[in-house]
Amino acid sequence: MKFVPEKRPIHGENLESLKSRLKSIGEPAFRAQQIMDWLYKKRARSWGDMTNLSRQLRAQLDKEFDFEPAQRVIAKESSDSTEKLLLSMRDGSMIETVVIRAPQIGVGQEKSRKTICISTQVGCAYGCRFCASGLNGWKRDLSTGEIVSQLIHVCHQEDATTDRAQEELASFDNIVVMGMGEPMANYDNLLAALRILNADWGLKFGARRITISTSGVVPKILQLAEEPEQFRLAVSLHGATNDVRSQIMPINKRYPLEELVPAIQKFASVKGRMVTLEFILIQEINDSFEQAEKLADIAQSLHAHVNLIPYNTVEGLDWKRPSRTRQDAFYDILKKKRVSATIRREKGHDIAAACGQLKLKTEEALSG
Ligand code: SAH
Ligand code: SF4
Repeated sequence: MKFVPEKRPIHGENLESLKSRLKSIGEPAFRAQQIMDWLYKKRARSWGDMTNLSRQLRAQLDKEFDFEPAQRVIAKESSDSTEKLLLSMRDGSMIETVVIRAPQIGVGQEKSRKTICISTQVGCAYGCRFCASGLNGWKRDLSTGEIVSQLIHVCHQEDATTDRAQEELASFDNIVVMGMGEPMANYDNLLAALRILNADWGLKFGARRITISTSGVVPKILQLAEEPEQFRLAVSLHGATNDVRSQIMPINKRYPLEELVPAIQKFASVKGRMVTLEFILIQEINDSFEQAEKLADIAQSLHAHVNLIPYNTVEGLDWKRPSRTRQDAFYDILKKKRVSATIRREKGHDIAAACGQLKLKTEEALSG
C-alpha cells in the first residue's frame, strides 16, 4: 500500500530538492540553507521558531510542508534505561523508535552513550517466525521524512538533558536500523534519510556510527557495498545451516547461506570493515553445540563479530530462550574458536524492546 500524505514532510527534503522547491515559489536559493540550519542545527520545533524568515514565507512553508509527520503516542521507560517511543504517522500507522542508554561508570546520566534504534517500515513482509514485527504482515514503507523525523523526535527530547544542541551536534552517539521492518526492502528511502542525517547541512552524523541490520537481502548488501559512505552492516543470521535457518527465516529459501555468506564477504572486503552477525538464541531451535561450531566457522571465515541475543519472548509465539547455562556454553564454544563475540544481557526486556512488540501490544489494547 502506498500512502500519499497531504503535505510532504520537510525532513524528507535535501538541500537541492528544497532549493528547487523554493525557487519555484520565487524564493532565493540561500533560504534553503537557512531552513536546514533551523531544522538540524538550531533545532526549531515549529515554523514559528524560524525568526529570520518572513511571516509570509513561514505561512507558505506550512502550506507546502509537514513539520511533524510523526506524533508521539507514548514513551515508556524501562528500569535498565531503555526508552521506547511509540509514534503515530499521519495515516494512523504506528511505529517504534527506541533510545538505549549505556551509562558510563562514574559520570552522570547526561554523559551516557545513547544508541537510537529506528524503524523503516510499518510491519514487515519477511515473516521471520520469531519476530513480532512481521506477525501482521507488511503495511507500507516509511517515507524518507518519516525516517528522519524519528531522530528529530529523539533530538528534541534529549536536548533537554544535554548541551549538545548548543554545539549543534546530534543528541545521540549511534544509530542502529534495527526497529520494525526490513531496511533493505525500503532501500532508497532509507539511504536518502541516512544521507540527510550525514550531510554537513543536516545533522552531520557520521556514517561510521550508523549500522544497518538486514535479514539477508543479498542484492542490496552488494549494492550497499558500492555506496560511497561507510555505513556498518549487521546481518541477522539466526541459523548456521540452511536447514535451521530456513525453518525460522523464510528469506533463506530465496537467499541461502551459500549466497549470503559470499555477499557478506564481499561487503567486508570492499569496505574493509568488520561485519556483525546477529544470532538470536532460541531454545531447541538453534542453540545446539553443532550450531555453535558451524556459526564459529562462518564467523571465522568472514572475520565477523558475533552478537548473541537471548530470545525475547513474544506473546502468542511459543519460542523460549535457552537457560543461562546453555547460553554460556554456546558462547564458550565461539570463544574457544577465538571468535569475537558478545552476548547481550537485558536491555529493555520489561518494556518489550524486541522489535514490533510495543506496537503490537498497544494496537491490541486499542482494539480490545
Ligand atoms: N529486518 C531487519 C532489522 C530489524 S529486526 C533484520 O531482520 O535484521 C532487528 C533484530 O531484532 C534482528 O536481528 C531480529 O532478528 C531481532 N529480533 C526480532 N525478534 C526478536 C525477538 N523476539 N527477540 C530478540 N531479537 C529479535
Ligand atoms: Fe522482518 Fe527483521 Fe522481523 Fe524478520 S526479523 S520479520 S526481517 S523485522
